[in-house]
Amino acid sequence: MAYYCFSSRDVCALPARNAQAINNCGALYAGRRKRSRGIIMGWFTRSSQKKQELPAEIWQVCPSCQAHVFKDEWASNLRVCPKCNHHERINCRERIDLLVDGGSFREFNQHIVPSDPLKFSDAKGPYKEKAAETVEKLGISESVITGSGNINGTRVVLAVMDFRFLGGSLASGTGEKIVLAIEHAVRFKRTFIMVSASGGARMHEGIISLMQMAKTCAAVAKLEKAGLPFISILSDPTTGGVSASYAMIGDINIAEPGTLIGFAGRRVIEQTIKQKLPDNFQTAEYLLEHGFVDHIVNRKDMKTFLANVLAYRKK
Ligand SMILES: [Zn+2]
Repeated sequence: MAYYCFSSRDVCALPARNAQAINNCGALYAGRRKRSRGIIMGWFTRSSQKKQELPAEIWQVCPSCQAHVFKDEWASNLRVCPKCNHHERINCRERIDLLVDGGSFREFNQHIVPSDPLKFSDAKGPYKEKAAETVEKLGISESVITGSGNINGTRVVLAVMDFRFLGGSLASGTGEKIVLAIEHAVRFKRTFIMVSASGGARMHEGIISLMQMAKTCAAVAKLEKAGLPFISILSDPTTGGVSASYAMIGDINIAEPGTLIGFAGRRVIEQTIKQKLPDNFQTAEYLLEHGFVDHIVNRKDMKTFLANVLAYRKK
């Protein structure tokens, strides 16, 4: 029986039983053979072993750049990707926590819930049931929560939309809450801050939801008449009827980086005008270039930015 020598790359005819046999080249044969067997065994055993997988729950995969970021790091970075600055959507409670001083927020009109003037029902069932389920699941009464709170000690009135609530849609309850919050701001001479996150008007309420565009804009006019600032923050996404009404008429319009802002969808516009639109069309950056947005502010800087604007008002 012949053995291959790993040292001289030659065939050795020495018997395998001779543990201390010296090969033609002088290499210790037994040692080589043992080691080679170890390598061969390793190849077979390694391939059959299960791959060690890291538990998925420790990673957050950035939807924009696909970077793997530790969840703790993702959370401490306010759910913004540290690699590409992608701003993940956050809910209304998280937004309020970021913007107002701890424990200073007082919510208004929690009793206002969606109404069903058309007795609307679609393939998924009655709107009334769907709305009630959403209220129950999210623990908020409408697609916006309103209230007053302090930003670095200055009292303001806020309305913060939540995209999770039926796509942040603008309905009669949403409009009513925003109007009442604005009226509170007028009464107490507070700055009004609106954080939008919406897919547009709520089709379940038909024309009633479209009327909220005019109703909220009329309320914003009251702020102007009273000489009170209206700061509009556009978060991802701000589209449809919301972008066509109160979201775009702030004294200062601010957006987070990469926010989708537009009225009709990109494909609809392309088909209508028969032209290819730029890649960054309907992004906050595109709107800034074209004068529809005044500032793009990173999430971590938003509170400081608002505090500076409020300090300006005091002067
Ligand atoms: Zn990223």
